[in-house]
Amino acid sequence: MKEIRTRYAPSPTGYMHIGNLRTALYEYLIARRAGGRFILRIEDTDQERLVEDSLEVIFNTLKLVGMHYDEGPYYQSQRLDLYAPFAEELVEKGQAYYCFCTKERLDALKASQEAAGEFPHYDGCCRTLPLNEAKSRVQAGEAYVIRQKMPRDGVTVFDDVVYGQISVENRELEDQILLKSDGFPTYNFANVIDDHLMEITHVVRGSEYLASTPKYNLLYQAFGWEIPEYVHLPLILNENGQKLSKRLGDQSFEDLLQEGYLVDAVINYIALLGWSPGSDREFFTLKELEQAFDIAGISKSPAIFDKKKLRWMNGEYIRKMPDEEFHEVAAPYIREVLGEAFDTGKIARLLQKRVEVLTEIPPQLDFLAKDLPYDTELFVHKKMKTDKALATSSLELVLGELEGKKEGFPEELQSFFEALAAAKGLKNGQLLWPLRVALSGKEQSPGGAAEIMEILGPEESLRRIRRGLDKLKKELAS
Ligand code: GLU
Repeated sequence: MKEIRTRYAPSPTGYMHIGNLRTALYEYLIARRAGGRFILRIEDTDQERLVEDSLEVIFNTLKLVGMHYDEGPYYQSQRLDLYAPFAEELVEKGQAYYCFCTKERLDALKASQEAAGEFPHYDGCCRTLPLNEAKSRVQAGEAYVIRQKMPRDGVTVFDDVVYGQISVENRELEDQILLKSDGFPTYNFANVIDDHLMEITHVVRGSEYLASTPKYNLLYQAFGWEIPEYVHLPLILNENGQKLSKRLGDQSFEDLLQEGYLVDAVINYIALLGWSPGSDREFFTLKELEQAFDIAGISKSPAIFDKKKLRWMNGEYIRKMPDEEFHEVAAPYIREVLGEAFDTGKIARLLQKRVEVLTEIPPQLDFLAKDLPYDTELFVHKKMKTDKALATSSLELVLGELEGKKEGFPEELQSFFEALAAAKGLKNGQLLWPLRVALSGKEQSPGGAAEIMEILGPEESLRRIRRGLDKLKKELAS
């Protein structure tokens, strides 16, 4: 059986669009599932659009995700000499022609077509030039491009694995440029030549390329080459129903990582944007996807990039992480607010149940770093059945029990407090709510009183409890 070969063919744009990442992922998965090969080809012929560092983005992404390529990277910019002879071969075959139209002529043509309400297209002016004449003009040094000679009638039909049979009227196809006047191939041309030379069996790309596919197929036919399988992927829309785009403020892969999403969660989520495993299973590691991914599960209806769903999934990933692994990813966010002053492991354990994305960590920790101003009304809590008088006596009770204890705090602080509350005929909340308020100065904090005390340590905990008590007493006295 023929080896399955897919390629990821990014143009270096400087960021990783979610749609491109999905294309890369599906190409990778199709190759892996079939025991085939995944090839990386950088489509950098458009030197004007080259963005610095953009190769880094591509390599880093593949590495972070764990998508190893088996061949490449190939760079089209390093293969430039290879394309012109193929374009000339097509001229000889009568499937392409030299075009000498100047920029001025093309601009004027475009303007008049637009004025007439037509879609601008090349009018085929040089199409009928006798080849001999064209060749002597080329030899005389006149500037030229090579254009593909599209059939003027009939239809081109092809099968797409996802979209089924597609047919396009040939008269709608423009005589597109294959080779530019600087001798560089256009994207459309280089792409076909390379897919053939690299023996790509499955071309996977966004559905925006569906309309260009007949042009590619006419090239394959002109050369007498085998046409690959086409797998066009559905659009990804944002929550407003627009095509996902950086320009509209939609996030790139790097943006999501910056916002505290985990690589594995994003990949899992992206895998499901346009593909279904045929069951309601939602969680997949990359390795599991390599087994499960089946082209038949790709859908043609647009997928919605639902940030809430991604966020939920990310939270689930965080909860399932082994403690140590979460500690490692959370530590930089913890240090951002607290420096080196605290045991990041203890704090990470508190947070793991409470965050969906990593950037939620810093704002939850502000109270550990400093005394937050708070109002004594915070001590009053109806459901916990506490008021200021009760808060005062609870804080006094705790201070009386813990202050001056040379051996430090009891090991099991939480059960110690529960036993203390029971002995004094208090509900747990009546003791623990005021305590937690005094320790955090916040209505909500990660962890209860005991957990916060374990992080703050005896000295700082007692200082905060005293501070709370002073606030309450001052108010009662006034
Ligand atoms: N270089 C094209 C892009 O980045 C690749 C399209 C294709 O996969 O053929 O959109």
